[in-house]
Amino acid sequence: MYYICPGLLFANLDIQLCSLLGITFVPKPDLLLINATLLVNPVDGCMQEDAYLAVADGAIVGIGAMADLPAQPEAEKIIEVAGNLVMPGLVNCHSHGAMTLFRGLADDLPLMTWLNEHIFPAEARLVDAEMVYWCSKLAAAEMIMGGTTTVADAYFYEHAAAKAFCEAGLRSVAAQGIIDFPAPGVPEPKQNIAVAADFLAAWQGKNSLLTPALFCHSPYTCGPDTMQRAKALAREAGSLFFIHLAETRDEIAQSKAQHRKTPVGLLHGLGLLDENTVCVHCVWLTEDDVRLLQETGAKVVTCPESNMKLGSGIAPLSELLAAGVQVGLGTDGCASNNDLDLFQEMASCARLHKVASREPTCLPASVLLDMAMGMGAEVLGLARQTGCLAVGLRADCVIIERRKPHLSPFYNPGTLVYAGRGSDVSTVLIDGRVVMQDRRFLAFDLAETLDEVRRLAKRVRAGE
Ligand SMILES: [Zn+2]
Repeated sequence: MYYICPGLLFANLDIQLCSLLGITFVPKPDLLLINATLLVNPVDGCMQEDAYLAVADGAIVGIGAMADLPAQPEAEKIIEVAGNLVMPGLVNCHSHGAMTLFRGLADDLPLMTWLNEHIFPAEARLVDAEMVYWCSKLAAAEMIMGGTTTVADAYFYEHAAAKAFCEAGLRSVAAQGIIDFPAPGVPEPKQNIAVAADFLAAWQGKNSLLTPALFCHSPYTCGPDTMQRAKALAREAGSLFFIHLAETRDEIAQSKAQHRKTPVGLLHGLGLLDENTVCVHCVWLTEDDVRLLQETGAKVVTCPESNMKLGSGIAPLSELLAAGVQVGLGTDGCASNNDLDLFQEMASCARLHKVASREPTCLPASVLLDMAMGMGAEVLGLARQTGCLAVGLRADCVIIERRKPHLSPFYNPGTLVYAGRGSDVSTVLIDGRVVMQDRRFLAFDLAETLDEVRRLAKRVRAGE
């Protein structure tokens, strides 16, 4: 079936040839968003009014002015956007989806007390494949309903998380956890690399929405040999290597005492920093650390709400960005945040850095939007798939309902950062599939997931 419309030219179609033939053949779109205001480029704040966005086979195949569409446009499905905002879906560059089960379980504690006395023991008792599956599904629902269309997740039993994300239709980079002591699903630490290798082999090329990766928990829970073996495996597979790095001052002191190096210096000395290494947190960095990250092309993910809640500190984002280091935004796990709302994360990040520097011009809203969209996609190696609205990219986009008191008037996209909320997202497309429409969650049976998580939470409370 063909659709004739001059406004819906494929980017790679030879326009001159078409005009010579006097006709333009374009497949009939699966989906048309009409009468939209498109946030085409969050960096320059450019918004295109009275526009359409066409989707076919999961990809964006046309963007243009409504005036270029026929009076009665044809498509399998048409969504009337009614002047609301269509923008790229958000990219959450670091989370532990299954930790939704521990939301609110142990608040107001220092990192090491929180980890060693609460989180690690609870994980040892409760984490199994079933728990990871249901709680990752809950995380997927929370993220989709808040406008997140891509997540980089890291946990144990990651195959169960991967299954949950694929069923949800959420784009993901799923990273199997590696740690040098008995862990959920890996009772014998000597098997940690073998389990990770099996995970990569099982998921590579299996689902176009999922990219498998590795996650060494941190340099204080993984020895140099483990980190090197994990990175060698990631290099062999062409996968990303995630690690929590330089999160607290205690970690810096421990690293200097044990290795006589900062955590970043340690990783560099071990040959672990390159453009496929994603360093999460990077709160405590020296000038040399920033230079090493820049020179090696390593990526950084900042999780300001987790850093604030655990009292860890403030990452030197202005210095990193000025040096040209790519920085993505992450929520971290639910136990240290305690939600997965990237709108709140953008707002917290902007305000935190302004108050810390006493400089209101630092980290403007456009940079936050870039970190949560295009630059975030680059950090995850997914910039050719997602992160902006462009013909040829996968159709990952969200509609923001602007006719609300707290979003009126709407002069520019900065309003999303300083006044927006995840609940302002009305409709979500991932890979062209409508997973939420007008706040109706369509990705899977949400009631079933809520019931299963409630059942698991009873076990947490009972101390089983
Ligand atoms: Zn984390």
